[in-house]
Amino acid sequence: MTATHVDGIEVVSDEPTPSPLNGPIRTVYFTRIRTLVLADASKVYGCTECDYTDPMVGKVRTHLSSSHTAKPKTPDPMSHLIADAARAVARLEQQRDSWKARALAAERSLRAIRKVIAP
Ligand SMILES: [Zn+2]
Repeated sequence: MTATHVDGIEVVSDEPTPSPLNGPIRTVYFTRIRTLVLADASKVYGCTECDYTDPMVGKVRTHLSSSHTAKPKTPDPMSHLIADAARAVARLEQQRDSWKARALAAERSLRAIRKVIAP
């Protein structure tokens, strides 16, 4: 369980932590490290297995490998692929909707131009 208080200061936000593998094409997060924003607006990283926190993400990684040696429960590879595919479909649908709106706007502009040029 991730910490709810750090040095007596309440955790106000618990977010996924982007991994160094994170990039423009694919969003990658640490599976066992959370980014915790505290009530004083400072930020620490928290272990998902216990209440360990540290301002440096590398320390949490070291903690995880030394204190929680058991492998994390990883979903089977097929469900991971299905989840990736679902995210890709959602992204494509979003892009499709954006392009459709632009195409409709362009058609409206073209009709307006045609009316002016050849009414
Ligand atoms: Zn831990």
